[in-house]
Amino acid sequence: MIHLKSVAEIEAMKEAGRVSAKALRKTGELVRPGISTLELDRFAENLIRMEGGVPAFLGYGGFKGSICSSVNDQIVHGIPSREVILREGDIISIDTGAIIGGWVGDNAATFAVGEIAPETARLLAVTEQCMLKGVDTARTGNRLGDIGYVVQHLAESEGFGVVREYVGHGIGHDMHEDPNVPNFGRKGHGIRLKKGMVLAIEPMINLGSHKTRGPFDDRWTVYTADGAPSAHFEKTVAITEDGPLILTAE
Ligand code: MG
Repeated sequence: MIHLKSVAEIEAMKEAGRVSAKALRKTGELVRPGISTLELDRFAENLIRMEGGVPAFLGYGGFKGSICSSVNDQIVHGIPSREVILREGDIISIDTGAIIGGWVGDNAATFAVGEIAPETARLLAVTEQCMLKGVDTARTGNRLGDIGYVVQHLAESEGFGVVREYVGHGIGHDMHEDPNVPNFGRKGHGIRLKKGMVLAIEPMINLGSHKTRGPFDDRWTVYTADGAPSAHFEKTVAITEDGPLILTAE
């Protein structure tokens, strides 16, 4: 069931969004060769709590981190660890979420560690563009498939693979609400988008094939099947009378 949010509820969600966005931005600023993903996690958790929030991912389904930290060929749901040390040329997707006043914010971005290969830099830029196009399509009158279509069309026209198994989602009192928001789709198909829907739009785009493998023993981390790098950008967006409103904003 899709929970439509009132104007007042969307207003209330902004605080969880603001803290999620601040945690993402400030944690991203720490990305550099030599830092561990556990250090990034501890920093983000502390920031979220200092801002009056609770990390949305910590304990979710038993997840052990406050962030998801997914390096190189890890697509999503990487677990922070003191053993994962970032190196020059890596990329890292950081996903942060905060709960404030019973509302959840969720956002992600992929960061370069020092200098990265030009092709990988292009993957990051295109994936962010895919997300922004998806956000811009979150308007009343459009359909769910229109979001997937614009994301898939741009990614595939650049020769990249669009992950199928993991998708965006509705968000509100729960981190994952209906509907699912695939990053692939057909124009004019799917449910009609309505004022009051709040969606986490999050393309996961691979430099190579769209195929995934895992999770394995850790039960969480998802990898590209071919070992090529993967990028991930996400924003929480409300559909309003005036168009899409990004809630994960400072
Ligand atoms: Mg999400």
